[in-house]
Amino acid sequence: MKPSIGVECQHCSHESQLEVDKEIKSIQCSSCKATWQINRDRIFKKCPICGCPYFYGQKDFNKVLGLAIMLIGICLAPFTYCLSLPVLSFFDWLLYQRVPNMVVCYDCRSEFRGFDVPADMEGFKHFLAEKFEKENK
Ligand SMILES: [Zn+2]
Ligand SMILES: [Zn+2]
Repeated sequence: MKPSIGVECQHCSHESQLEVDKEIKSIQCSSCKATWQINRDRIFKKCPICGCPYFYGQKDFNKVLGLAIMLIGICLAPFTYCLSLPVLSFFDWLLYQRVPNMVVCYDCRSEFRGFDVPADMEGFKHFLAEKFEKENK
């Protein structure tokens, strides 16, 4: 999977999914052509979109899919003496393990997929998110 960044442009609010090849030095909003410099070695030190140094890691997991699996389990339960439930929740768990990590910038909410996530990347911290929401108002 090629690394890509999901950006909501600060200038025109257009959402772009931009691929970041190894050689690439900058990315561009596909609508207004705003340009952002990319330094792949330091990408999680400082957000290339907004300059913010705070990121969090999360699973790029489709919650709808997880829910659909559980619903199938519940529908099948009467026919399988409820065995479908543990089987499918195991499948759900397995799927979750295979989901890649993504990294999100607290400030501009850009989503970084397919990059090497640093081992010390922390999960979502509510107080940090609140801090940024206040500052953006
Ligand atoms: Zn733009
Ligand atoms: Zn950012």
